[in-house]
Amino acid sequence: MQLEDTLGDAALILRRSLSPVSYDDSLLATTQEGEGGRLKLRRSSAARRTVLVVGSGWAAHALIKVIDTERHDVYVVSPRNCFCFTPMLPSSAVGTVEFRSLLEPVRVSNPEVVYVEANVLELDTQRKTALCRPAIALPSGELGPTFEIAYDVAVLAPGEQSATLGVPGVAEHSFYLKEVSDAVRLRKRVAECFELASLPGTSEEDMSTLLHFVVVGGGPTGVEFAGTLADYVRRDVARTYSRAIVGKVKVTLIQSAQTILSQFAKNLQGEALASLAGAGVEVRLGARVSRLDAGCVTLNTGETLHCGVIVWSAGNAARPLVRSISESLHAQRAFEADTARPGLKLAVDPWLRVVGAQDVLALGDASRMHGAPLPATAQVAGQQGAYAARLLNRRFDLGIGGLDQPPPWRAAAATDAPSSNGDGTVVAAGPFDFLSLGLLAYVGNDSALTQLDTGDVHVQLSGRFAFLLWRSVYLTKQVSLRNRVLILFDWMKTRVFGRDISQF
Ligand code: FAD
Ligand code: MG
Repeated sequence: MQLEDTLGDAALILRRSLSPVSYDDSLLATTQEGEGGRLKLRRSSAARRTVLVVGSGWAAHALIKVIDTERHDVYVVSPRNCFCFTPMLPSSAVGTVEFRSLLEPVRVSNPEVVYVEANVLELDTQRKTALCRPAIALPSGELGPTFEIAYDVAVLAPGEQSATLGVPGVAEHSFYLKEVSDAVRLRKRVAECFELASLPGTSEEDMSTLLHFVVVGGGPTGVEFAGTLADYVRRDVARTYSRAIVGKVKVTLIQSAQTILSQFAKNLQGEALASLAGAGVEVRLGARVSRLDAGCVTLNTGETLHCGVIVWSAGNAARPLVRSISESLHAQRAFEADTARPGLKLAVDPWLRVVGAQDVLALGDASRMHGAPLPATAQVAGQQGAYAARLLNRRFDLGIGGLDQPPPWRAAAATDAPSSNGDGTVVAAGPFDFLSLGLLAYVGNDSALTQLDTGDVHVQLSGRFAFLLWRSVYLTKQVSLRNRVLILFDWMKTRVFGRDISQF
């Protein structure tokens, strides 16, 4: 089935690239309802389903690639006009790869969807409309008027946002590593710290502070960034800065639990700690951050760490949109007790339908499957996006989400017209089935971890071979040939010339 699905998706993408349909401007025609009423996008035709996609990350991107635009009018609403290959964000923050190599614009992923650079503020699941606000300012500096999009099916994939976990000073004094813009700012600041420390008159003490980089969070993002930063110092800073500078650099990784990379097996966690130590990263386990100030991390023991840069990757929280939808649906409340962190995600049924809502799917990090919660990873989000596209391409009616509701269905002989009744028999859709392709993490010093547990196959690898595997997997997982070529060239460039330390 998996192979058949993949071949079907590939055929659809090929057909689209061979006979491109030009972008349909008419889908952006608007009407104004009543005096001073809201701006509303006009429906093109009742015969085609209007699909609203919220987001342009892993889940949304997978859906956009595979959705059949001959049968659907697809609106993609997101404040970012591109998809970002997040597993390589830590490498881009020190220049191992370039930012643009990780991105694919939505308009390139599928030229036949209508992309709108806006945030969805509210979803009215009764009226089946989304209220949107442009994400870019007008020349006057103001944001344009809000507008409504009416949908037949809404697919929510807004992901999550970084969480401060209630620690004072996080928003003001740290760098997140969630979006490309974060990586851009972080890379600039790291480079600035080296130049600041090199200025004449900088005291030894200030040098040590500026060149101390603190990473909070021992998950894959924190570990990969700490490891990559240590590589950068050892290989590239050492080539271009004085020995006094290199000798003062320190990278500290702070983790509140007693272990890092909790999703990996115990022995691999040990390998990761050893590899980080080998790369020169000091790992502080069981250390809790109680507040952040400019250039200062305070631990709950009262100890303070003075530093040039603080990177915060200690957790995620719900986006305001997810919170508001969850609060507006009574049926979601029954699932809150089901989790340690209530109300954080949209509860979905095995077909990814939002419990209690009509014709709404939720995918990726923003959702939680009842009974069988899946990890918040790109792998899950991507597979869910492709599943949702196939559900729609195969003309299933979604109905209301919930475990006590009938599954999505379609008439057995349903052909072209969405309302065709066939011979009266009905086919039910199969539930979403996650195929785990294993875990990978880079841990610095050309070393990585690989863990695969699928059926009878159990593989654990670490070290250099795992690193080569990490690289080949991420190269093949790129979303286009263009990205694959760019990443490969970036790696070769870094190997031969070192990372680019210019800042602007
Ligand atoms: P996202 O990819 O976060 O996409 C959300 C989208 O919604 C974005 O385009 C955002 O702009 C948009 N959006 C937000 N709010 C609104 C709104 N109100 N209206 C409209 N649009 C909105 N996973 C792995 O499996 N392997 C890894 O190695 C790995 N490494 C990672 C490294 C980093 C640095 C990070 C940050 C994540 C990593 N992940 C990894 C996790 C993975 O990126 C996420 O699980 C995945 O992005 C989830 O996909 P998503 O589509 O649910 O959300
Ligand atoms: Mg997404």
